[in-house]
Amino acid sequence: MPHTCTDCSARYEIPEDEQVFHADMGVPPPKQCPHCRFVRRLNERNARNLYRRKCDLTGKEFISPYSDVPFPVYHPDVWFSDDWDDLKYGRDIDWNRPFFDQLLELFHCVPHQGQFICPGTLENSEYVNCAGYLKDCYLVAETDYNEKCLYGNRVFHNISVVDCSNIYESELCYECIDCTKCHSCRYCIDCLNCSDCFAMRNCIGCHDCIGCMNLRQKQYMLFNEQLSKEEYAKRKKEMALHTTGGVESLRGKAKEFFLTQPHRFVQMEQVQNCSGDHLFNSKNAHDCVDCTDLEDCKYCARVFNAKSALDYTSWGDKSERMYQCGACGDNAYNLKFCTTCATNNSDLEYCGHCTGCKNCFGCAGMRKKQHCILNKQYSKKEYENTRKKLIKHMEKHGEWGEYFPKQFCPFGYNETLAAEYFPLTKKEALAQGYRWRDPVDEKPKVEKVIPVKKLPQSIEDIPDDILHWAVTCEETDRPFRIIKQELDFYRQMQIPVPHFHPDERHRRRMELRPSRVFYDRTCDKCGKEIQTTYGPQRPEIVYCEECYLSEVY
Ligand SMILES: [Zn+2]
Ligand SMILES: [Zn+2]
Repeated sequence: MPHTCTDCSARYEIPEDEQVFHADMGVPPPKQCPHCRFVRRLNERNARNLYRRKCDLTGKEFISPYSDVPFPVYHPDVWFSDDWDDLKYGRDIDWNRPFFDQLLELFHCVPHQGQFICPGTLENSEYVNCAGYLKDCYLVAETDYNEKCLYGNRVFHNISVVDCSNIYESELCYECIDCTKCHSCRYCIDCLNCSDCFAMRNCIGCHDCIGCMNLRQKQYMLFNEQLSKEEYAKRKKEMALHTTGGVESLRGKAKEFFLTQPHRFVQMEQVQNCSGDHLFNSKNAHDCVDCTDLEDCKYCARVFNAKSALDYTSWGDKSERMYQCGACGDNAYNLKFCTTCATNNSDLEYCGHCTGCKNCFGCAGMRKKQHCILNKQYSKKEYENTRKKLIKHMEKHGEWGEYFPKQFCPFGYNETLAAEYFPLTKKEALAQGYRWRDPVDEKPKVEKVIPVKKLPQSIEDIPDDILHWAVTCEETDRPFRIIKQELDFYRQMQIPVPHFHPDERHRRRMELRPSRVFYDRTCDKCGKEIQTTYGPQRPEIVYCEECYLSEVY
């Protein structure tokens, strides 16, 4: 029986596998369509829009995803400490009012952890978020185990990668997206085990190639054409890839060339009975994107290592039985309708910003507590009875089974993962009931601010003085700085300095990724029905898995 989404009015079905999951979790069917639920959860995660602010307890300055928010924000060292009492905010349930109203009041007064980092694992890496185990990193987010990485998101186990997204176990890479085990690569997408390559797409095991697509184990190829070693060196030199113009020209030509080559309908590796995109090493996972190591999951994004989850976004890490949760993970078990709960939580419902908690309902900012409701401690028996009564109360108000209403989210739509997957204009976002936060740039404390176009074309001609200037973005006019570590990298790698603000660079990378919406379309070779992230109106040639593999191997 089709349902009508209470948010966007779309008609949607709840298939049997989801009904079974709902029954097992003891929840009613959701009143919103999968897309609205997905966007709502994505809006809970602001990974990379960071603000300089003060800790509301100690006054210490630090970097936080929270700017002007209604609740106190504490530096993580303080937030995890005994310097404050989370139970102090506890309150009784008012049975005459809807529960969400009471929960929002609690969310608005309890101190929030001001930066999502793994305490004690960051060395010289202050300007980061959603991060752990970093050394000498700057402006990276959703990231672990890196050294000398700058400006990027979802980078894991890398050394010296700059302006990259979704990069794993790589070194000395620049402006790469969705690449693994690459070395000295630039402007590459969906590549594996490549080195010294420029502007490649879907290549594996290639070395010294430029502008190629769908190649395996090749060397000295230019736009899929085999050259001799000498000819390759000559043509590469002529392309002047150390200059802004040279890189622009290469990327333009590569973009045109890629349109003549078949695109794989989605990116999946080592999967069994799965659907989605950029999904790896998984079993029985459906409609999942940007995920790894899933089993029996559906509607997940940016999750690694999770089992039995439905409607789960960010971030897994040994999590199981998760339903309608955003920004939760690290040993989570049986969480429903939660946000931003990290590390060793189990059996939580409607909780936010809790850690090490068990059996809590509608709590905020709790550390290692159990049997609490609205931050008030109950005995085990009292908790169980009150929880049952509260669910009945929420049912009466149409709240039980629904995720936190939009007004719970302190972030602007444009600050969060929602905008990354589904960009909206300010007008559209506000019309849909989301917040918006226009970027406000601090006035750079520099000798001068110059338009980026006035800089020399070649990295060889960039003076050291640039470290004392700010330059303005060619697209957005926003000022940005070049830091010493970054300039050293560009010089070492012979890369021209970027012409865009870091946010604009990120936006452009995201634009190069396929959409996160699945379209029905037919394979351009065999005519088979496929579900792909390339909409039917897109200019790419799209092949089903069989046709794609017969083409490239
Ligand atoms: Zn909807
Ligand atoms: Zn086909």
